Amino acid sequence: VEVLGVKERAPGERRVALTPETARKLAALGATVWVESGAGLGAGFTDQAYLDAGAQLADDTRASQADIVLCVQAPETAWLNQLKLGSTLVGMLQPQADSLRAATMQSRGLQVFPLERLPRTTRAQSMDVLSSQAGMAGYKATLIAAQRAPRFFPMLTTAAGTIRPSRVLVVGAGVAGLQAVATARRLGAQVEGFDVRPETREQIESLGGKFLDLGVSAAGEGGYARALTDEERAEQQRRLGEHLRLVDVVICTAAVPGRPAPKIITQAMVEGMRPGSVVVDLAAETGGNCEATRPGETVDVGGVVVDGPLNLASQGAVHASEMYARNLYNFVALFVKDGAIAFDWEDELLAKTRWVAG
Ligand code: NAD
Repeated sequence: VEVLGVKERAPGERRVALTPETARKLAALGATVWVESGAGLGAGFTDQAYLDAGAQLADDTRASQADIVLCVQAPETAWLNQLKLGSTLVGMLQPQADSLRAATMQSRGLQVFPLERLPRTTRAQSMDVLSSQAGMAGYKATLIAAQRAPRFFPMLTTAAGTIRPSRVLVVGAGVAGLQAVATARRLGAQVEGFDVRPETREQIESLGGKFLDLGVSAAGEGGYARALTDEERAEQQRRLGEHLRLVDVVICTAAVPGRPAPKIITQAMVEGMRPGSVVVDLAAETGGNCEATRPGETVDVGGVVVDGPLNLASQGAVHASEMYARNLYNFVALFVKDGAIAFDWEDELLAKTRWVAG
């Protein structure tokens, strides 16, 4: 079986789906491993490192021969069109996001595994790309906030007097939010977080943060949150608006699967914050948790900086790629045995992740 690691073509994407480490491990499964020349450069992996790991370098025609293609973002439709009929594609493919993409995947008869569909079960943890990439995003969002803030995060006692620590509020305490709590704590800030899933209280506290109780509980299916009712949303916003006047930094990470990011911080709330405060909206990718957020931009609202960075995981491309590539390897190892592909559709991780048009 021939596996190909592609060079990402999306602008600004520095991550890579195959690393020298996973190239070696795939070869140990009996695969012949190819990597597109230059694929790893954005993440610090040279062509030579792949050659040393036993992979072969491919030009951009190799895709037509590969049985399994590994990528980070969904390739362009024209590129998909040259894939071998019936080959297998693994990555964060979002087939539903683009009807032409979906039609092309279908017409090539591809076996499509969009890993964002992977069930979030214990067994799937080692393959969970949403978690591994969200961890990096939460970390980077916190560093951006620290960088943008016109103040220290830690408390300092200096000859010029005492500096009080920054107050950081993390909105949404999933994987990214908890990493933001942990990172802001390590930088010495006073950290609070909230979420609509009640179990996050303990998780926030275990990282040294304080749970901000806004009186709304909305656990949904599969361990995720559900969307709030209008009443719940109004209550959350009333309490939050008061509180935001006290904080220096807000890091937004709230999401509901398959929906635009919940709007939690209104324009009026931002206007009510103290000048010199900072909002970093990691949810900008899906529209943002803050009404003032402009995805991919930094705006100033009466002295409050609102930043909506995109593709934060790519900014930590080395470790994000290492984790991502291991996630993909662990997934591929479910169906590559002794150098051949064998799908076991009784395995829910394969059956539920697989995408079929319809
Ligand atoms: P996500 O990115 O979908 O959402 C981020 C957070 O936003 C979630 O914690 C959600 O509850 C919260 N949120 C949604 N609406 C909100 C609102 N109106 N106000 C405040 N917060 C709101 O979630 P995620 O980080 O991918 O993961 C969510 C859950 O899945 C977590 O419990 C996580 O531990 C769990 N998970 C389990 C596994 C596993 O067991 N294998 C793996 C990964 C994640």
